[in-house]
Amino acid sequence: MIAELETVASWLRAASRVVVLTGAGISTESGIPDFRGPKGVWTKNPAAEKTATLEYYLGDPEVRRRAWQNRLDSEYWTAEPNAAHHALVDLERRGAMHFLVTQNIDGLHHAAGQSPGIIIEIHGNVREAKCMSCDWRGPMAETLDRLRAGDPDPACLVCGGILKSATISFGENLVAADLERAQREAARADVFLALGTSLGVYPAAALPEIALRAGARLVIVNEQETPFDSVADVVLRDRLETVLPALAAAV
Ligand SMILES: [Zn+2]
Repeated sequence: MIAELETVASWLRAASRVVVLTGAGISTESGIPDFRGPKGVWTKNPAAEKTATLEYYLGDPEVRRRAWQNRLDSEYWTAEPNAAHHALVDLERRGAMHFLVTQNIDGLHHAAGQSPGIIIEIHGNVREAKCMSCDWRGPMAETLDRLRAGDPDPACLVCGGILKSATISFGENLVAADLERAQREAARADVFLALGTSLGVYPAAALPEIALRAGARLVIVNEQETPFDSVADVVLRDRLETVLPALAAAV
């Protein structure tokens, strides 16, 4: 691994545009469960997937009550960034990373101190609540306070509409402007790092394709195989909490 890390570090030093994509694998060490992995929340309890499906959420107050209760008890509120998140902040400070697209909704890249302006949370985030009828958005903490005060399904205070976490549910469109920006950045990359993602969920999985077509080097760090392993320049199976700090130190 040492020789490969040295090679990747040399690419990062030479690159003028390094784009990173992160998935669930970077946050498991922080105690955030992977939803679809073997020990994932939805794998163990398929009924829980309903709370993340827009049609059920909008159509069934009972599903919403369960979703809010799950939010209240969620590991998101105690999770902290781990060594891998911090190493990405290091890479940014060293000028060796320029843009970050994450599939994660946990907000841990922000919590680690990554510049907010270079992050796209392509599946939204749990730190905010949003109204499904008007443009209202606000801190999740305020909506959870209303829940604790006894409202099991808090409605929008502006228009009375249904509130939801500001994540992208199944059946809900991604934010087009975010997706377009992510695609533009992928096309500008000299090096594209895919970290802790199975690269099986589109449209995020299209980003390394775009980068490769534009001539970027592709580096994959993931504990499981991905469909892009055969076209990647380097594939590392090691843990991100080990690899990324070593990489940041070598750049
Ligand atoms: Zn509203």
